[in-house]
Amino acid sequence: MHANTPIKPAYIDLHVHSTASDGSLSPVKIIQAADKANLRAIAITDHDTIDGSVEALQHQHSSGVEILPGVEISASFESGAMHILGYLIRLDDVSLRGVLKVLQKARASRNLQIIERLQGLGVDISYDEILKASGGGQVGRPHIAHVLVQKGIVQNIDNAFNKLLRKGSPAYAEKYRLLPVEAIEAISGAGGVPVLAHPFTLNAKTEGDLERVLVELKQAGLKGVEAYCPGHGPELTAMYERLADHHGLLVTGGTDFHGALKPEVHIGIGRGDLRIPYRLVEELKKETNQPPSPSLSP
Ligand code: AMP
Ligand code: ZN
Ligand code: FE
Ligand code: FE
Repeated sequence: MHANTPIKPAYIDLHVHSTASDGSLSPVKIIQAADKANLRAIAITDHDTIDGSVEALQHQHSSGVEILPGVEISASFESGAMHILGYLIRLDDVSLRGVLKVLQKARASRNLQIIERLQGLGVDISYDEILKASGGGQVGRPHIAHVLVQKGIVQNIDNAFNKLLRKGSPAYAEKYRLLPVEAIEAISGAGGVPVLAHPFTLNAKTEGDLERVLVELKQAGLKGVEAYCPGHGPELTAMYERLADHHGLLVTGGTDFHGALKPEVHIGIGRGDLRIPYRLVEELKKETNQPPSPSLSP
């Protein structure tokens, strides 16, 4: 190899939000941040939209960072939050785009309901303020939380969720969600690989409970589990690796980076100690008919 050929460290971040949903950085800024963090590959996995992935892929040439098309879809689940990540989806898939449009409409009407509830509680806030804060992408509760903090109504984002926005709080409004099988099929139907995001948010009480959910999701077409993310300590990570291995699911990882809307989480490294190896991208690609990546060394 030529002495000056840069060698990219083989680390990745497969869970990143952009301004197309509730991240604070544009796709181009995310690519720059990923490049600076020496990441070899990222996926922009915005809530209910592929606009961030489309834009990132248009700018892929601007750096050495490989962009995997991605999305994150919420599914209905009784005891917690179930998010399904979709990787290597065809971004022009008509059926996936149709599903996302339905979810975007549901999101918009739910946001209005939240604002009405806040106003009903006497909070001085308008939908326009939220739209402005969101910068034109899909609006989510983190944007509402951000405005509540800015206006001094709550102290921080955590307070905003705990006092007002989380399920069970006074300004919470339900949102139409796909069934888990529908979310999985929307992703598979677009040639993508469906992966269960941050499994700890399911609030499964025991390993056995989580295993039962995973078995059902696998029967519906799930291909992987996000074993590496900032909310997991070493014990949970080991449990997810064990369950994935036992059930023939692949593992993925990402930080759930939201920029300034979750400032303690940094791209690629989470709260500082996350390192996700590039070989997981190779495993993902094997689940589709994608060509393998160019090799790291000559
Ligand atoms: P939404 O898509 O509008 O339902 O908002 C969900 C997003 O809000 C999640 O993806 C998280 O990024 C964020 N979120 C949920 N709960 C909390 C919390 N307690 N504190 C901070 N952010 C949260
Ligand atoms: Zn988010
Ligand atoms: Fe999520
Ligand atoms: Fe996320």
